[in-house]
Amino acid sequence: MLRVFAAFSVLLLAAPAVAQDARLKVTATFSILGDVVKNIGGDRVEVTLLVGPNADAHVYSPSPADARKLADAKVVVLNGLGFEGWIDRLVKASGSNAARVTAAKGVTPRRKTEGHGHSHGSDPHAWQSVANVKIYAANIRDGLVAADPAGKAQYVSNTAAYLAKLDALETEVRETVAKIPADRRRIITTHDAFGFFKDAYGLDFIAPQGVSTESEASAKDVARIIVQIKRQKIPAVFMENISDPRLLKRIADETGAKIGGTLYSDALTGEKGPAPTYIDLIRHNLKQISGALTTS
Ligand SMILES: [Zn+2]
Repeated sequence: MLRVFAAFSVLLLAAPAVAQDARLKVTATFSILGDVVKNIGGDRVEVTLLVGPNADAHVYSPSPADARKLADAKVVVLNGLGFEGWIDRLVKASGSNAARVTAAKGVTPRRKTEGHGHSHGSDPHAWQSVANVKIYAANIRDGLVAADPAGKAQYVSNTAAYLAKLDALETEVRETVAKIPADRRRIITTHDAFGFFKDAYGLDFIAPQGVSTESEASAKDVARIIVQIKRQKIPAVFMENISDPRLLKRIADETGAKIGGTLYSDALTGEKGPAPTYIDLIRHNLKQISGALTTS
């Protein structure tokens, strides 16, 4: 009896169970961030999302339910870099006094790809470089510790474990890209979401739609890209889960480039899809890209 009791106490000390209602309420602006928060927060946090799986944060318009989520949250985690143009108004409307954590704080900004789409200033898609998501994780850890100091040890150890996974992922990306012949490292996507991936890993992405999905590609942009695909013999075009696939199908038809599959740029899939977590998303994209570019 005594031994059982002692074992039980040790268990309690090792992994204090957090009662459902005692969890730190965190709202993340979109699904990719929500996944990073879950990895750092573990069972101490309850994460809600504003923009869910397979949804497009660029053209999001907040609902009254979103304002209620924010009003309940103790912490709101956003990407920053201008991604959530709607956040200030929503926070104000909700009366929220949640602590704000900007995940991309400290990331080296990049300008949007020249000549594509309309100017929206800097490129918000910093999560397409795994090294940047390590910065996200550290910012989120610090934000959670500040809001819930009693959870510090858990947040710190969860973060260390997650960073190790991200390091392994980064290595995997570099090794896979290195195997793609240099003259085939070019693909077409719908919107310009992969600039950070391009800068980090040396693949060229060309997009008719610009860094936001807000503005449609012009006929001129599309015509220019068709010429470019033919001239540079670009092997594959990719669709995205958040964009209208018709444009790329048309480009593929006119150029003979093959449709390489679907890439996940700005949103995770649901649980049963191929990209329910950030790490799955990068792995899935990598597999699609290397599959299309290494075989002809
Ligand atoms: Zn985007």
